[in-house]
Amino acid sequence: MDNNKRLLPFATGLLLLGVAFFLLYQRPVSAEFSGSTMGTRYQIKIADLPREIEQTYIENQIFTTLDQVDKLMSTYKPNSDVTRFNRAAIDESVIIDKQTLEVIQLSKLIYTLSNGAFDITVSPIVQLWGFGPEFKQNKLPSANDIQRALDKVGFDKIQITDNPPALEKLQDVEIDLSAIAKGYGVDQVAKLLDTHNIENYLVEVGGEIRVKGTNRAGQRWRIGIETPSVIRSGARQAIAIDNASIATSGDYRNFFEVEGKRYSHTINPLTGKPVEHNLASVTVVSRSCAEADALATAMSVLGPKRGFELAVESKLAAYFLVRENDGYQQLMTDSFRDIVDNQTKPH
Ligand code: ADP
Ligand code: MG
Repeated sequence: MDNNKRLLPFATGLLLLGVAFFLLYQRPVSAEFSGSTMGTRYQIKIADLPREIEQTYIENQIFTTLDQVDKLMSTYKPNSDVTRFNRAAIDESVIIDKQTLEVIQLSKLIYTLSNGAFDITVSPIVQLWGFGPEFKQNKLPSANDIQRALDKVGFDKIQITDNPPALEKLQDVEIDLSAIAKGYGVDQVAKLLDTHNIENYLVEVGGEIRVKGTNRAGQRWRIGIETPSVIRSGARQAIAIDNASIATSGDYRNFFEVEGKRYSHTINPLTGKPVEHNLASVTVVSRSCAEADALATAMSVLGPKRGFELAVESKLAAYFLVRENDGYQQLMTDSFRDIVDNQTKPH
């Protein structure tokens, strides 16, 4: 009996220790992966990777997911859906993957919504202005060159078939999914993590981001909005979002100057020229990252006036930074302001 009395606290202690070890062992771990894809970098942060999921396994799955999007939508890979379509003859039906179809259909929606400002057939003009892979620009194209390039632009020159997924060019036309594929890659990785019941993550490809849940510290993910380097401090925005995507399109990263004039890599498919307004960047928050990515580009083309009007009409969460003589003006739609106002509320 005496012995038993002495043993009881000992056994309880052992049991508690066991439970503590078990709980610790069960606790998810955090993990970070990064690498190159689609001609840019990706970064994935997982705050709650379940112990039973091997890090190398999920890392491989992430890479395969992104690689698949790249293989289908690359403008350079010889067997991508995009290249096969670009090389196809007029009236030849090109079978494409369901993923490519999904991206093309979303592109068409945003083409329609933006009255042609977002157009995946814009590449002849992108090349003409020297933003393609071939050369860098130091002189400007002539009005004739622009007209010839414009003749090969227009989403309505493409016929889309759903079943089986296929594309057909009705006239000489090419596609380039650069302004939407990164966002789509982000969505695909997020889907992958969702199917593994991972609840807290940040996925980023080339600056386009989707987040869910909280970071390692248990706080909502905070995303700093990339702003032009010369911006006055105080105008920057950093926002906390959950279960949402954020994409920024801006002319401060990729542009050239001829005689002091700035030419953006965002092209207006209606004029055949780089956009010229004083919009420095547009940031869009949306559920889908592909949508945010494409919408940000669409509104960059439309500019601070028409782009902002469209954002308001379509009830988008959008933030515009407009260059002014002595600095920058910020514009935000009500939905974006709601997100900013929401920051102070506890999670
Ligand atoms: P940003 O971050 O500035 O939006 P992206 O990489 O998302 O840049 O998109 C830029 C690319 O989109 C360009 O390199 C070009 O290939 C393509 N692009 C340019 N203008 C348009 C347009 N009006 N519609 C669709 N794609 C475009
Ligand atoms: Mg974009």
